[in-house]
Amino acid sequence: MTKLMKGRTGDWEVVIGLEVHAQATTKSKLFSGAATDFGAEPNTQVSLVDAAMPGMLPVLNELSVRQAVLTGLALKAKINLHSVFARKNYFYPDLPQGYQISQYEQPIVGAGEITVDLPDGETKTVGIERLHLEQDAGKSLHDQHPAQSYIDLNRAGVTLMEIVSRPDMRSSDEAAAYVEKLRSILRYIGSCDGNMQEGSMRADANVSVRRPGAPLGTRCEIKNVNSIRFLKQAIEYEAARQIEIIEDGGKIGQETRLFDAAKGETRSMRSKEDAHDYRYFPDPDLLPLDLDPGFVDRLKQSLPELPDEKKARFIADYALSPYDAGVLVAERETAEFFETVAKGRDAKLAANWVMSELFGRLNKADIALAKSPVTPEALGGLIGLIADNTISGRIAKDVFDEMFETGKDAAAIVEAKGLKQITDTGAIEAVVDRIVAGSPDNVAQYKGGNAKVIGWFVGQVMKETQGKANPKLVNDLLRKKLGG
Ligand code: ADP
Ligand code: MG
Repeated sequence: MTKLMKGRTGDWEVVIGLEVHAQATTKSKLFSGAATDFGAEPNTQVSLVDAAMPGMLPVLNELSVRQAVLTGLALKAKINLHSVFARKNYFYPDLPQGYQISQYEQPIVGAGEITVDLPDGETKTVGIERLHLEQDAGKSLHDQHPAQSYIDLNRAGVTLMEIVSRPDMRSSDEAAAYVEKLRSILRYIGSCDGNMQEGSMRADANVSVRRPGAPLGTRCEIKNVNSIRFLKQAIEYEAARQIEIIEDGGKIGQETRLFDAAKGETRSMRSKEDAHDYRYFPDPDLLPLDLDPGFVDRLKQSLPELPDEKKARFIADYALSPYDAGVLVAERETAEFFETVAKGRDAKLAANWVMSELFGRLNKADIALAKSPVTPEALGGLIGLIADNTISGRIAKDVFDEMFETGKDAAAIVEAKGLKQITDTGAIEAVVDRIVAGSPDNVAQYKGGNAKVIGWFVGQVMKETQGKANPKLVNDLLRKKLGG
């Protein structure tokens, strides 16, 4: 069911297509040997090619090609064995060549798709139109001098994979879920680190509105949105803006806009060029790229298990809910951590401990999973103690807290603190008898029909046994003694 937006004059359907620029993981640039490390001193990673000195020739980086093909394969896309680099001519102060080397009519990757997981648990397939390789531009710095702008060319020439979706998304939630899934896939295969804060992944959002079932409306493109939260805000603002204009009798002009995060609104940057304005033509400095089918096959063989397959396996093998499985597979490290914990144990219990207790503590302490003071083996050990009734789930939480703080092993903590659960019926019965005998008022209440009083009895027994009595035994014994 497509979600619609309500206008003054009726319902509107929002149509979204995304162009995601993902920086490929490479040591050097797309056409030069200069380094690509993030955060280096300005202009320390610039070769003569990147600075566009006359007579310099671009040399294609093989790793960039591998990353693009690997990504295409992970997106179930057609790999084009023959592709062509083209010059896209436009003036940018931080792009010294005066043109960007990109791919136009013949990109390296053609049509593919992504299965997107929506917040309501449904999935949706979003079409991929293409993926092409292109150079990034440098960066203009406007805040370093009162009257001048500085230019940093470190980023100029870095490899970008531009991944273009079909206009298949119908809400900001779907767009957000698409970017999340794409990011997850890129990180699984290691072709991009997916770091939106550092700009390794940026999205341009194309947004239009139409009456349900009508032809596509005119779109506006919001450039360079660098967080998922901003992407959602930008789309929602933009759709509402377009609806208002059309309902007031106006028309949408195709244009490029930018999102002002501080104000939460989109603003016009320039009217949008059409492709012919760029005067694309094949770059005469570069041969067409012809791939060996064996090269593509080998990359296909090397693909890891991807998030969708892993999710399906987690649901089938561990009987997890689709939601839990989705959370656990979003990052490869998380999935591996979980599988180590769950090995040979109750998988649902393992999933709960990883997702609520461990994630909760890690978030609170702002620690990454890779640095978790509780290793997956140690967490597995704790779950083992719950499963064999050595400790109760309640006590396990205290043990876990101590494991998290000290890095100690669960069994050692239980031993040192004498936390072993009391499963000796006789010992518990003695305590139960004493408490029942000592509170005739509560016994009378219980017998008079106030069933909730049992909670008070359980609490008393637990208090006396310092939480160590097996809860099920306590309940059974109390019901027997109280005649429930
Ligand atoms: P360009 O590169 O000039 O921006 P493309 O034709 O490559 O143009 O399209 C870019 C993006 O715009 C694609 O993601 C596509 O899905 C999306 N798009 C195209 N038409 C519409 C539309 N009417 N509404 C929303 N998105 C659209
Ligand atoms: Mg575009």
